[in-house]
Amino acid sequence: MSGKLLVISGLSAAGKGTIAKELISRYNDFVLSISATTRDKRAGEVDGKDYFFVTKDKFEEMINNSELLEYAKYVNNYYGTPKKYVLDRLNEGKNVILEIEMQGALKIKKIFNEAILVFFIPKDAKTQKERLISRNRETLEQIKERIRQTLIDAVYAKHYDYILVNEDLNDAIKDVIDIVNSNYNKDKNANNYKLLDKIVLDIKEEENV
Ligand code: 5GP
Repeated sequence: MSGKLLVISGLSAAGKGTIAKELISRYNDFVLSISATTRDKRAGEVDGKDYFFVTKDKFEEMINNSELLEYAKYVNNYYGTPKKYVLDRLNEGKNVILEIEMQGALKIKKIFNEAILVFFIPKDAKTQKERLISRNRETLEQIKERIRQTLIDAVYAKHYDYILVNEDLNDAIKDVIDIVNSNYNKDKNANNYKLLDKIVLDIKEEENV
């Protein structure tokens, strides 16, 4: 296999979806894997583009036929990565991006030790909250829930190869490209872990936990 497998996860509102979309629109050698899910389609989502929306029976059939590279249950729904698409693209030399949650990411690392795991964070807790509010998609209670989830998600960050701050989109993209080309200075991780620790502290203080 000549392409690289890039797994992108991160804190809520870290902007990982935007980064993944930018990578595939700017660079022909990047492709995005489309997952299968049993969750309902949201307004504006397209089957076969955002996800393959399938029934629970169909998903379980995919599991039984070993059609998935990994899968996880997340908020009562199944999500999984179709195996054939990913392996075919890697064999063609494409870099394949998986935008998946942490349990799935760690399973991928077990199967493909050479997979690159990148964890995105916003620059601080205030930015995260402002982004969640300005998206205007959820109630304040749901936003608070997502912020609390950050405390759990942050624990997984240490299992990732790289932790990146998405403050400026172009800088974040450059960091990913440097990582893929083995030109990234891993020393930057230490500072970014400190920023993550600060986010966690600030959330704990605000949420009184
Ligand atoms: P959403 O329902 O908001 O689209 O996605 C919920 C979570 O599932 C996100 O963290 C997303 O990254 C993750 N996810 C999407 N596809 C997959 C997949 O194929 N496998 C795993 N493990 N997680 C996925």
